[in-house]
Amino acid sequence: MSTTNDRIVVVGAGVSGLAIARELAPDHDVIVLDKGGIAADTSSRASGMISLSLEPFPDEWASFALSQFRDLDGQGIFSFTERETVRLVPAANADLYTDQAPGGGNFFTRSELEGRYPDSFSDLSAYGGGLVYDGTGSLDALDYAMTLKWAAERAGAEVFRDHEVTDLRVEDGTVTGVETEYGRIDADHVVYATGWKTRELLAEYVEIPVRPLRWNAVVIEPDEPLPTDCPMGSEPTLRVYWRPTDRGNVLVGGNEHLLSDPEGTPMGVEPSFRERVVEDVAPLLSGVASGEVRREDCCPTADCASPDGRPVIDTPEEGPDGLTVVTGLHGRGVMLSPVTGRAVRSLITGETPPFPLVQFRLDRFDDRSAEFDYRSHWGPGEDSSVP
Ligand SMILES: Cc1cc2nc3c(=O)[nH]c(=O)nc-3n(C[C@H](O)[C@H](O)[C@H](O)COP(=O)(O)OP(=O)(O)OC[C@H]3O[C@@H](n4cnc5c(N)ncnc54)[C@H](O)[C@@H]3O)c2cc1C
Repeated sequence: MSTTNDRIVVVGAGVSGLAIARELAPDHDVIVLDKGGIAADTSSRASGMISLSLEPFPDEWASFALSQFRDLDGQGIFSFTERETVRLVPAANADLYTDQAPGGGNFFTRSELEGRYPDSFSDLSAYGGGLVYDGTGSLDALDYAMTLKWAAERAGAEVFRDHEVTDLRVEDGTVTGVETEYGRIDADHVVYATGWKTRELLAEYVEIPVRPLRWNAVVIEPDEPLPTDCPMGSEPTLRVYWRPTDRGNVLVGGNEHLLSDPEGTPMGVEPSFRERVVEDVAPLLSGVASGEVRREDCCPTADCASPDGRPVIDTPEEGPDGLTVVTGLHGRGVMLSPVTGRAVRSLITGETPPFPLVQFRLDRFDDRSAEFDYRSHWGPGEDSSVP
């Protein structure tokens, strides 16, 4: 357990590392090191969907994260926009649902959906209705990351870009610091929040079953801005989600799949995904079918998948004392980041967390190899292959 003013080195300045630094900086000596820029890797590419209440996770994670986003709203350059989320239900499945759907959503028929959001939808003829969830919203991932950095620095953390960590230093089974390209930094605790790289970076000390995961996103400017009450949403058959942006555009994301070689893969959005968005998704929303594609994104490297779709946030028993790992965020790293930050604080300080941590433990996996199949967000039967 840490004592006040212990030095903690956090490796990785994505949203996970920055959220951890913000939590620990008030009473520890925190140094964050990133080999590149701040949130310059996967984190800045995130679509900014905050929809934990739809996920099969403990309610306490969703409520804790939501309260943190609300508290941070208005600080730094961060704003959090709360919106309902609609999960569309194909006509063939509509009779599976009654008013109260599993997971807290409420089922609305197609005509009820059209009445609830009168100017948002264009052609819902293929759908029997949708599940409407609250407790969801969106943010700009880079603004969020920069605000976390600002908050961490205000609390005393030091954040360094262009500082590659080349090794973990361990003596007699206990972490003593890190080696960087500029020399050694001593530390009482080291946290690796290095995304999909974590597996190879820590291979000498602990085996972590994670694999690189790729997402695609396209931003379309509608011919008229979307109405302010336009909900966020998802379409499970097409495996896409959408959200309105602050500029009145719509961001459509999805088509996630495992990658075998992130650094050797061209990083443009896949043409088949762009076509699907333009032909099948855009007609669902008012004015979007006739809009213009304004931006396309996918990760410059990759996000990170775990076998069961939940992250690993742990101080693994088989690793050296003083080592904490955060990886396998599985496409939810931004929405989970407040939970990640507090979870790591609890692991390092011994404080009781306001939510369960057991689901994050590494020892839930007997098989630690990276030879697992992708566990899709979209339910059984939708698994993707490695391209
Ligand atoms: C297109 C797209 C859309 C997405 N949409 C959403 C969304 O709507 N909502 C959501 O919650 N999530 C979303 N995600 C997922 C989310 O972006 C990730 O889960 C999250 O960013 C992971 O953050 P991280 O800090 O753990 O990892 P990363 O952002 O990958 O950060 C890891 C950092 O570690 C650094 N690093 C690696 N090796 C070293 C080293 N040796 N020394 C020093 N530094 C090192 C890297 O440079 C990097 O900055 C999306 C992802 C993509 C790509």
